Amino acid sequence: MFLLPYPAGKRFAFTIVDDTDGATLENVGPVYECLRELGFRTTKTVWIEPPRVGEASSGSLGDTLQRRDYSEFVESLHEWGFEIALHNVTGDSNRREQVLGGLEAFRAQFGRYPRMNIQHEKNRENLYFDFAQDSGRLRAEFSTRAARWIQRAVDRTNGRTVERAKPHPCCGEDPDSPYFWGDLCRSRIQYVRTNVFLCELDTIRTSPHIPFHHDDTPWVNYWFDCSNGADRERFTELLRERQVRRLIDGCGCALVYTHFGKGFCEAGPRGFQLNPHVRRRLERIASRRDGWFAPASEVLDRLLAFHKVLLGGFPGGMLVENGNPYPLRSVTIWDAPRRRYWLVGGSEIEADEEGRIVLPTLSAGSRMALVGRDVCRQASRWNEDSPPGWRKDIGMLANKAFERLYAKLCHRRAWRVREES
Ligand SMILES: [Zn+2]
Repeated sequence: MFLLPYPAGKRFAFTIVDDTDGATLENVGPVYECLRELGFRTTKTVWIEPPRVGEASSGSLGDTLQRRDYSEFVESLHEWGFEIALHNVTGDSNRREQVLGGLEAFRAQFGRYPRMNIQHEKNRENLYFDFAQDSGRLRAEFSTRAARWIQRAVDRTNGRTVERAKPHPCCGEDPDSPYFWGDLCRSRIQYVRTNVFLCELDTIRTSPHIPFHHDDTPWVNYWFDCSNGADRERFTELLRERQVRRLIDGCGCALVYTHFGKGFCEAGPRGFQLNPHVRRRLERIASRRDGWFAPASEVLDRLLAFHKVLLGGFPGGMLVENGNPYPLRSVTIWDAPRRRYWLVGGSEIEADEEGRIVLPTLSAGSRMALVGRDVCRQASRWNEDSPPGWRKDIGMLANKAFERLYAKLCHRRAWRVREES
């Protein structure tokens, strides 16, 4: 038996974080139409304003919320259930007052602060950039040094390497810098992406601890890593059949990082059209009914909650505990097909034909025991064997009468002793 963090008996999770570099209404609109049609709800990042003239690199160009029809398009995505997140306030460096203004503008438009920020390139207000680029904390895929060396060589020839730390001028965490906004980040934003990009579609296979907090980076609540689908080629490569099968078989969780503005749609006589190869890849995943397709922050919320959910087995049953101060809905346990359990003193639960058991709610800080038929029978027999109420009452009355009689005898004996003396 094992526990899955996905709701409603889902077997795997798939979501996308779209970096807004190069994105315009024209070149990403068809991607989102397709995602919506297929039932995906992913995360789109936005810029509030364009970069200031003369400072922006080519990667910092694209539509911002200042373009009316693009802004309306982003609002409609939000209404359809897509998550709107921030890619810093603009594509170039932002001082504290600019960040503050951008966060407030975001809240005015979407009714709340963004839950996620994706740090853009080397914007000076980026937080803990050395830490963000450090892949040293990742779990090694191979245990021997020789195997790791071979893997690195293969990755290099395939152009799939984890980005190495480079010098940078970022200082968003430094209270003495005009670019400091760490306190704003901590009080308003829950998740910040690292700059570590993974080669595998199943993100939690290499990074099982996401989202994670680190004591050395106190202004960031939680970090998360992503699988690397940076542009159309890498995206379709990442979503190839073998990777998808591995994701599903391993009950994995894919957080794919990409730029939909980078070649996903091609200009034709009838405007921009989504690349058919990309569409096929997405259709293949959407066709799986056991996939959970929620925005990235929602997926991360669930992973975070499950850091404090424990499942323990014992002969004849299991115990599941929710250590969170809030209830969890739709908790999925995988066990043997059609195996039946009983809640102690409660109802019967049966795993489905694939072995899934879905517990509707696990209350805050609660434990729930599920026991097999034998244990359940023993529990009820023990209950049945306890004496009925009337027998307990007669026993207690007899006890009290005996205590009183004994006290009287002792009292008389004490007088007699005194008279004799
Ligand atoms: Zn970017």
